[in-house]
Amino acid sequence: MILVTGGAGYIGTHVVRSLIRHGMDVVVYDRRPLPQPLLDGKPFLPVPFVVADLADRQALDETFEKYEFEAVIHLAGDIVVSESVAEPEKYYLNNVGGGMSLLAAMRRYGVMKIVFSSTAALFGLPERVPILEDDPVRPINPYGRTKWMFEQMLDDYDRAYGLKFVSLRYFNASGADSSGLIGEAHDPETHLIPLVLEVPLQKRPYVSIFGTDYDTPDGTAIRDYIHVSDLAEAHVLAVKYLRDASESRCYNLGNGRGHSVREVIATAEEVVGASIRTVETPRRPGDAERLIAGNERIINELSWKPNYNDLNVIVESAWRWHKGQN
Ligand code: UDP
Repeated sequence: MILVTGGAGYIGTHVVRSLIRHGMDVVVYDRRPLPQPLLDGKPFLPVPFVVADLADRQALDETFEKYEFEAVIHLAGDIVVSESVAEPEKYYLNNVGGGMSLLAAMRRYGVMKIVFSSTAALFGLPERVPILEDDPVRPINPYGRTKWMFEQMLDDYDRAYGLKFVSLRYFNASGADSSGLIGEAHDPETHLIPLVLEVPLQKRPYVSIFGTDYDTPDGTAIRDYIHVSDLAEAHVLAVKYLRDASESRCYNLGNGRGHSVREVIATAEEVVGASIRTVETPRRPGDAERLIAGNERIINELSWKPNYNDLNVIVESAWRWHKGQN
């Protein structure tokens, strides 16, 4: 049995989907209920879920009492960089405090394996791309710092208590499950692909291009967009690795290829078959010029293999889901 914290979110639902496909038993723990779409009249994500906060010790204890967990996949956390600057306390409480509360519960119940959703934001404004796991970690906002703090805690718990972990440093998760039943929706939405697709859906009048003066071929920032289903599969591999791992590991998780903001918008126009209105604005504070994953480590060590690493396929899958939400 695997406990997935944050399993009701965008990445969480895709991770749950992958675990189910691999025949693993799953319990979701999230502040929000698990979405319950139906496929041919049957639940698409047929797993038990607990609606509670990580700060709720009683709810955690009841969950660990009730089920016997082999490992925890810890995805629960707040993710909006600008909010983390304005309201750092929320981020320290949820991402660090909530994580500590989870680790304490794991120790109380002797569950000593964890897969953690970390982030490329650890690397701040990197000096070079592709970014390798051992490149300098220099987060530039509270969000990135909370993720880094938790990675360091995991390291300390490993040394002191023998906890084994896999930390997956996500690049830009995007796209949606091929069923079209689960997908990306944040409130507020801050991510590029959903924002772009909301223009043809007439949910917003235009999409902003944050900065056109970067030192890149078209002047806009470059990111490594990884299909969320490929990202989810890495969690299954990480759980399998931890079954007999003697060493904890960190992995960068991306396709190893970058696309500019303008390329994303052009791809979306092709997929949607309409032009998408854009407005050029100054850079968003704290945005790096280029973030591209050096992904050889996870490919070599966990045999991870992306199946949907084409930007067209990623945007198409996102579009299928977004259209279905109307
Ligand atoms: N971006 C943009 N307009 C938007 C949202 C994002 O130009 O409305 C850019 C952003 O500056 C970055 C890229 O799109 O270069 C991806 O941003 P997102 O917020 O999706 O992910 P991040 O890379 O910040 O984690």
